[in-house]
Order: sequence, then structure tokens, then C-alpha cells
Amino acid sequence: MDDCIFCKIGKKEVPASIIYEDDNSLAFLDIKPHSKGHTVIIPKDHCVTIFDVEDETYLNLMKTVKRVMSLLKDKLHTDGFNVGWNHNTAGGQVVPHLHIHIFPRYSGDGGGSMHSIINNPQGSVEQVAELFKK
Ligand code: 5GP
Ligand code: ZN
Repeated sequence: MDDCIFCKIGKKEVPASIIYEDDNSLAFLDIKPHSKGHTVIIPKDHCVTIFDVEDETYLNLMKTVKRVMSLLKDKLHTDGFNVGWNHNTAGGQVVPHLHIHIFPRYSGDGGGSMHSIINNPQGSVEQVAELFKK
């Protein structure tokens, strides 16, 4: 898409610190890192969320995630990771081009876990489970 910042990075029209690239995906360092080596991985073709891509694209993206995690571990000697994506505005997505965040973690870095993103369970587990029953 013409006015999409991540499409522009994918097409090398906007500079970024690219650390991995293949035919379908690109990994670059986040411009405002939340940890050393905070990386964003995108599919090169524009799409907004995971629901917009074919399974094959999704699987390729996940392969890239694993490769980049390995790269970060080797180069930066990480002790752990948080990996995930913000889906839609309600999930914190700001750039409307699908991207996966990799936050390298280091022992004693003071960060939390995924559980610190949200704590608003709204009812019991049993009540929610009921909604899945036919
Ligand atoms: P979101 O909240 O959409 O999941 O995160 C978007 C991320 O993209 C943010 O962490 C932000 O710092 C990063 N970002 C936005 N624009 C650019 C850019 O032009 N270059 C790079 N390298 N990162 C960007
Ligand atoms: Zn795009």
C-alpha cells in the first residue's frame, strides 16, 4: 500500500536496520526499542491482521520468527524472549500492517511477562467456557 510505512520499509523506500530478509518477510529493529534488539517482523505483502493472510504466509512468517530469535540469541546473547503481536486497535496495534514483535529479554532486565499486558477477566472461567458449548 502506497502510504504504509512498513510497505515502504519492505520496498527499501524508507531506511531501517534490517537484520534478516527472505523473499516473503523482513525483520528490522524497532525505531523505539523496548529492549536491546527489539525487532519487528513483517510479511512483505501488505495485510493488516493475521486474518488477512493465507496459512502459507502465516507459516512462513513463523519460520522467520524462529530464525530471527535464533539470530538474536547468537548475536546479543539473550536470556529469553517475549514474542507476539498487537491485533487491531483494541489490542494496541498502531501500524496497520501485520507485524510480529520480538522483545529480547535479559536476566534481571526489570520487565514483566505477557500477563502484564491486561488484567480484566470479566467473569469466571466457567462462564466463558459456557459460551463455547453448543
Ligand atoms: P504496534 O503498536 O503497531 O504493534 O507497533 C508498531 C511498532 O513499529 C512500534 O514499536 C514502533 O516503534 C515501530 N515503528 C513505527 N514506525 C517505524 C519506522 O518507521 N521504523 C521502524 N524501524 N520502526 C517503526
Ligand atoms: Zn503495508
